[in-house]
Amino acid sequence: MNVSVVLFTADLRLHDHPPLRAALDGSRGSHASREVVPLFVRDRAVDAAGFAVPNRLAFLADCLRDLDAGLRERGGRLVVRSGDLVEEVCKVAADADADEVHMAADVSAHAHRRERRLRRALEAEGLRLHVHDTVTTAVAPGAVTPASSDHFAVFTPYYGQWARQGLRAVLDAPRFVRVPDGVGSEELPSREKVSGVSPGLAPGGETEGRGRLTAWLRGGVADYEDRHDDLAGDATSRLSPHLHFGTLSPVELVRRTREVGGPGAEAFVRQVAWRDFHRQVLAARPGASTADYRTKCDRWRSERTAREDVEAWREGRTGYPVVDAAMRQLRHEGWMHNRGRLLTASFLAKTLYVDWRVGARYFLDLLVDGDVANNQLNWQWMAGTGTDSRPNRVLNPLTQAKRYDPDGAYVRRWVSELRELPGAAVHEPWKLRGLERAAVDYPDPIVDLAEGLARFRRGRERD
Ligand code: FAD
Repeated sequence: MNVSVVLFTADLRLHDHPPLRAALDGSRGSHASREVVPLFVRDRAVDAAGFAVPNRLAFLADCLRDLDAGLRERGGRLVVRSGDLVEEVCKVAADADADEVHMAADVSAHAHRRERRLRRALEAEGLRLHVHDTVTTAVAPGAVTPASSDHFAVFTPYYGQWARQGLRAVLDAPRFVRVPDGVGSEELPSREKVSGVSPGLAPGGETEGRGRLTAWLRGGVADYEDRHDDLAGDATSRLSPHLHFGTLSPVELVRRTREVGGPGAEAFVRQVAWRDFHRQVLAARPGASTADYRTKCDRWRSERTAREDVEAWREGRTGYPVVDAAMRQLRHEGWMHNRGRLLTASFLAKTLYVDWRVGARYFLDLLVDGDVANNQLNWQWMAGTGTDSRPNRVLNPLTQAKRYDPDGAYVRRWVSELRELPGAAVHEPWKLRGLERAAVDYPDPIVDLAEGLARFRRGRERD
């Protein structure tokens, strides 16, 4: 009797899951298995790299519990192990007497190394590894390329080709999953045991993600084009953690959104394509997770030389209310609105002229959707070392605040010290005088915007 191991990584779902379907039904090059071992390995190397932070561990725990519950409804269960991923997969395959392993393709340098090691180790034991595309992306990295390069460095032409790609059919969740006896599992992790979690962290899991997607497609998506930048309106999908952990399939998400149709749906799909865009950049240039994609020879201020500024930025005490509101949202929810991410990143990398890696690291420490491809490459985009065709653009926090939080509701939500200030006055507390100023316990701006801009220009001119 054939047995396969299905290794779940960033694809923690049962619906539209090509590796699981291929293991159960067979596919080109692989046989149908009567039994499968659904396996998740808490990879020691990911922990050692500092990637296992409380918010993502808590969300992950929800995802694993929900996946296990979904498997149990189908007669199966999830096997959880921790340690060296390659060793654990080989051990489980041996325990189950499996002859094939299925998993999703991934893009980071770590994922590539891990896949190579796993293939070698399995082949040495006479087992085959099947790696499936379009599990964590809608369009696989490298599926569309320009004539002269192995990847697109500019989004618009990438999107033109991406949008014309035919997407594979969405796969149903299996009805039955039989797991062989005798394969031991560790206890499932639980969110309650993780300390240091942001108090407003969203719940994880496929059930939650699918419910959120359905509600979004029935409601919010129609207004997405007009409202996605409205900070206080909070009118984006908040599906990013589900895409990051793979509790939602990007192929299914794009297909279902296109069925809804209209300008909101179109704008939303375009935004989702940014995710695939960054993944195809990282797949082709894995070094871009730490090194400038297009260096401007910046001599950034480091965390050490700009210690007080970096601390004020992290704590949301820069004296620029919209920056501080966004940084406090990050800390409270483990998530931040895209407009907030843009303007806080611009503030750190350009106005304060601090190395983008300092900011990217802090975001990765807190973001529940913290993702090497999206985080590092969006930071590089904003720092002007990435794929932005206007690398020297600087977002003025005051202009941004007045445009995207015109009556100040977002700032009042997150910066309690300023809650009593009416309307747009909340964006310029430095204009208060006398007793009014004394009544507000809020710092003066840590930097003069014009001086910040001049420092940034001087830094860039030196190359
Ligand atoms: P929506 O507006 O509803 O968009 C739908 C989906 O499209 C998102 O869930 C996301 O998967 C994708 N998407 C949207 N905008 C982008 C974008 N600019 N780049 C890539 N994909 C996008 N996104 C992450 O998923 N993980 C990160 O670690 C991350 N770090 C970021 C850091 C910075 C400095 C910036 C400027 C952006 C970052 N983003 C990151 C992109 C974006 O801010 C988030 O994906 C988005 O805010 C998530 O909220 P949402 O699901 O409501 O997005």
